[in-house]
Amino acid sequence: MQVAIIGAGLGGLTAALALARMRLAVTVFEQAEALGEVGAGITISPNAGRVLDHLGLGESIRERGVLPGTQHIRDLATGLTLRTLARDADLEARHGAPYRHLHRADLHALLAGAVEEAAPGSIRLGHRLADITPDGRMRFTGGAEARADVVVGADGVRSTVRDCLYPTEPPLFTGQVAWRGLVPTDALPAEVAAEPPGIFIGPGRLVLRYPVRGGALTNYAIFVETAEWQEESWSTPSTRAELLAHLGAACASVRLLVEATPPAWLFKWALFAREPLPSWSVGRVTLLGDAAHAMLPFMGQGAATAIEDAMVLARALAAHPPDEALARYEAARRERTAMVQLQSRLLGLRFQGKDPEVLGRGPLMNEEELGLFAYDPVTVAI
Ligand SMILES: Cc1cc2nc3c(=O)[nH]c(=O)nc-3n(C[C@H](O)[C@H](O)[C@H](O)COP(=O)(O)OP(=O)(O)OC[C@H]3O[C@@H](n4cnc5c(N)ncnc54)[C@H](O)[C@@H]3O)c2cc1C
Repeated sequence: MQVAIIGAGLGGLTAALALARMRLAVTVFEQAEALGEVGAGITISPNAGRVLDHLGLGESIRERGVLPGTQHIRDLATGLTLRTLARDADLEARHGAPYRHLHRADLHALLAGAVEEAAPGSIRLGHRLADITPDGRMRFTGGAEARADVVVGADGVRSTVRDCLYPTEPPLFTGQVAWRGLVPTDALPAEVAAEPPGIFIGPGRLVLRYPVRGGALTNYAIFVETAEWQEESWSTPSTRAELLAHLGAACASVRLLVEATPPAWLFKWALFAREPLPSWSVGRVTLLGDAAHAMLPFMGQGAATAIEDAMVLARALAAHPPDEALARYEAARRERTAMVQLQSRLLGLRFQGKDPEVLGRGPLMNEEELGLFAYDPVTVAI
């Protein structure tokens, strides 16, 4: 069986690696001329960590990633800790899989290297998909064509595969804009650099900060309610002045974090919500990751669910003929990803100070009850 994957993002590369490990023939078509990732942090929770362990990347993830220990939930205006969450060795031991903060580029490079080793020459750069038909015929910008028995659209939030085959409603602007930045930790005042990772919450605002690259860099994302600007792009540059003007009554820790950000390391993007799709597959073509279920970032599960998809899809394709495999993949994944999509939206509202329970003792993100971290894509029934 020849499998083509459109998109060499975190989801597409994990799918390629899982398929190659199961000895299926795979080709990845990526629009970019060079492989790479935006500068930002990413959290790998045990549900995704389990897949990376299974694919042989667990040790590298543990080596390169940071285990936060304790996350502090703090009041944005005062900086005072309201409560703490354990993200420590006990959590990892309980789930038997890593929970780590990583630099996206480090995870991406690790996956790309492993794919190249397992299936040399399988990643074709400079291939931008222009059109696709349900029988797996692909046409690329510039005229090149290809065909595969199964095609997987792992081409992200603005998926061409989805647009060609699945008419969808336009996404809804949430009224929130997010800024993300990276700061060399030694550029921060010592007392700010030493602060624990976690979240600051206040009305209409949420700040997330954590270390990556062994603590050498501090990653942050700041979510603000504003309708001034509405572009869904992860790479639109911003300025410290613009972000500071949107911070409202934020404590000194947050302001100092923004002020220490190198100008080229600050970006903004508007947050759009999407409804779960009624179906992912048409003929021999299916979707994976953000193309199938782009979600708001409040649960930090976008890449994790893409990685889950990748493992389940590869297992289905290795065990069943294409049509049956795609049906089983979709049946195994739709409910889970719709749950995470909807819970992420809900959590966003709660974080933004709309739910007073968050500031008190109520459940913040009940991952145990939701089965978020316990999900095992390597063994789940398909
Ligand atoms: C700031 C930020 C922080 C985040 N933090 C987390 C986190 O902590 N944990 C988490 O789990 N998730 C997080 N996410 C979400 C997560 O990054 C995404 O859900 C994840 O990247 C989706 O992976 P993907 O492979 O589906 O798509 P993408 O990573 O978007 O990859 C799509 C790939 O397809 C390629 N492509 C697109 N169109 C075409 C085409 N026509 N032809 C060929 N190639 C094409 C693109 O160039 C790209 O390489 C975060 C997102 C952001 C913006």
